[in-house]
Order: sequence, then structure tokens, then C-alpha cells
Amino acid sequence: MNLSSLTSTKATSSNAAAEKFSSLDTLHSTQSNELVSAPVQAILEKTLLGEELNVEDACVLFATQGAEAQAVLDTADKVREKRVGDTGTFVITRNINFTNVCYMGCRFCNFAKEKGDADAEFLTVEQVADKAEEAWARGATEVCIQGGLHPDIGADYYRELIIAVKKRVPEIHIHAFSPFEIWYGCKKGRLEPEVFLTELKALGLGSMPGTAAEILDTEVRKQLTKNKLTTEEWVRIIKAAHSVGVPTTSTIMYGHVDQPIHWANHLALLRDIQKETGGFTEFVPLGFIHYETRLYNDNPDKVRPGPTQDEHFKMHAIARLMLQGHIDNIQASWVKMGPEVATRMLRSGANDLGGTLMNESISRAAGATHGQEVFPEDMVANIQAAGLNAVQRSTKYEVVRTYFVEENNAKTPLTDRIAIRGVA
Ligand code: SF4
Repeated sequence: MNLSSLTSTKATSSNAAAEKFSSLDTLHSTQSNELVSAPVQAILEKTLLGEELNVEDACVLFATQGAEAQAVLDTADKVREKRVGDTGTFVITRNINFTNVCYMGCRFCNFAKEKGDADAEFLTVEQVADKAEEAWARGATEVCIQGGLHPDIGADYYRELIIAVKKRVPEIHIHAFSPFEIWYGCKKGRLEPEVFLTELKALGLGSMPGTAAEILDTEVRKQLTKNKLTTEEWVRIIKAAHSVGVPTTSTIMYGHVDQPIHWANHLALLRDIQKETGGFTEFVPLGFIHYETRLYNDNPDKVRPGPTQDEHFKMHAIARLMLQGHIDNIQASWVKMGPEVATRMLRSGANDLGGTLMNESISRAAGATHGQEVFPEDMVANIQAAGLNAVQRSTKYEVVRTYFVEENNAKTPLTDRIAIRGVA
């Protein structure tokens, strides 16, 4: 069963929940739509009819404030309901970062260490398999595996890692390796991405995170990563993955040296790729966490300390509007924004709260403070608090289990998580 076929018949108290969330946020504090200008109104009417927004439209919406911004969020909430119903989703997953050793020197990253550093880590493939086995025992349907570009690993490490996990936990979905890691494996193994990805898929790779996208603009990438993985290379690897049947997520990292025009162009590019390949499962906005990064600390006058809360809300809402009909799953990252703000995002365009994670070290290394794990029970409670039906999903957005609002009060406790895996 696919989530898009879910109806809203079981959802209750949506409006009450929306009002509750409305009172909490600066954007949501403006009640009136009377101040919405004709150009903004025209764009919102266009998107409600399902018509495509262009880059200029998106820039107009990113510039909105007050009542106009509220109208953008309300419109995104309506489009979310139209596209995916009154459903909020999450996935039970474990993040496994197999090494933090990396020499790429991305300036927004505080995760990377050098070999020999006291806190350098490098797991063997069997240690990764141990973690996957533990995750499966705790009800995870997925492991998300990523790591630094360690100088000692080559294409074989990526192959062996998939083999080890699949041998130990054959049914778990392996969501692994950013486009940067695939680029690295290809470089080390002198392989074309299609060849390498076909091999990895045959070994058990289920999907890839579309991370390392940052902002798909050359000038911005030069400041973030010295343009080591170019926009063209990111797109090339993503398209290669889709062409061999490996779906990916899509992401943006915003709130540093970027501007709304970069966000709008980025969304348009992702939409173009999706029209061509259909291989994106979701879009995940990732706000820049600045605290411990060289990018911010070396240039505090020029680099912003992450997005404002208003920008978080507008990013999710405008992504919903720009991508509607193409990428209909918009994820709100509790790791970046905290569970409370991520939950409120569910009434401003997002429909997914992402993974429970169990371990998360990349954002934590950059100074994020939102913990390492949200339990499935809390995911369900948060989604229901937003007035939506909670659904545990698979990586590919198939329904694993639905929790209707009427089933609250522990009628369907999550004590049998393992037994219910795979039940639609
Ligand atoms: S973001 Fe990834 S590739 Fe860049 S330095 Fe950090 S670990 Fe390495």
C-alpha cells in the first residue's frame, strides 16, 4: 500500500491542532490574510490549482513576511493535504556513521577528524553489522549508513560493508552512501557510477541519501567545500543511481552564505531531475548548524548562524509548493530543528518527521543539541498532536503501520514492534 492512497477519513481535529500550532510561532502569530498582496495571492491561487511555480514565483514567496508568509504556510498545508492526505509519517531507522576520518575539509563540517586523532573512529564492517543487528532487534526497518572519506578505504570497503550487513540482517533496508561517497568509491576503484551502483545494488543497497547537495550552485559550493564535489558531479551520481534503480532522497543545506535565489534554483533543479528520473523519494531541508564549524567561526560577519525559524517554515512550505506532483514527501528534520518545531512543520507543508535514528553524530558534532533518538511512541504522539494520522513507513514510503487518532491512549501500544514489521 502506498501512502498517497491513504484518505483523510480518519483524521480528526486538524483545525484545532492547526490553531494550537498557529499560536506558537512568530510567523503564525498573524491571523489576517487581508494584507496579502495581489502578486502573492496570484501565485498562491496558481499553486492551489496545481500549476507549476517558477523560480521567480518562489523568490516572491521567500520574501513574504507577516500575513503574507502565513498565507504561504496555510497554502502549503492545503497542498500537503491534497497530495498526501491527513497523514504524517516516520521511519524506524538507525544512523551508523562508520568513520569520522575525512580529508575533504568541508568548512561547514565539524564531524571530520584526522587519522590518529584521539577521537577518530573507524568501524570494521563486522562492527557495522553488529549495529545493524541491534537496530533490527529494536524494530528498525532501515539502517542509514554514511561516513567520512577515509584515505584507507576504497570501493571494496563499500562493497564489503553491504555484504556484511545483508549477511547478518538480510531483510533490513540499507540506505547508504552519499553521492560524495559514491564519487570517492568510483575514483578509488576507477569505476563509472552506473557500474559501481549496479554492483552495490546487486549486493543489497536499497537506496541512497541525497546528502552532499548543500546548495547546488558553483559559487556557493566553492565557499562551502572548495567545489570538490561539483553540482554537475552530484547530479551525475544521482541520475546514475536513479538509472540503475537505486532511489535517493534529495536535500538542501541552507542558512549560511546562501540567498533565496539559490534556494529557488536548487528546488527547480531537483524538480527537473525528478521529471527526468522519478527517483527521488523525498525532499529534506537541512538547516545549517553553525556552532562548531570553521565556516561560521572564521567569518562570523559574513556567514549566517543558520536559518531563522521563519526561514525554516518558509523553506518547507515553498518546497511543498514548488515540488508538488513531483516530490510529494517533504521531511521535517527533528535533528536540525528539534522535535517540537519539526512537528509544527507538519502543518506548514511537511508530511514526514524522518527517522528515529538511535544514533546521530554528524549534526551533534556541529553543535546541534536535539539528542540522538526520538522513540517511535513519541513520533506517533507528535504526529497525532499535529492532528494527523501517524504512519510508520518504510524507506520507500510504503505503510508499515497506521495509528489512527482514535487509537490513542495506548490502544495500540508499540510493544510488538518486531512482530508488526511489514504489516500494511
Ligand atoms: S561533510 Fe563529509 S566529505 Fe565534507 S569534510 Fe565532513 S565528512 Fe568529509
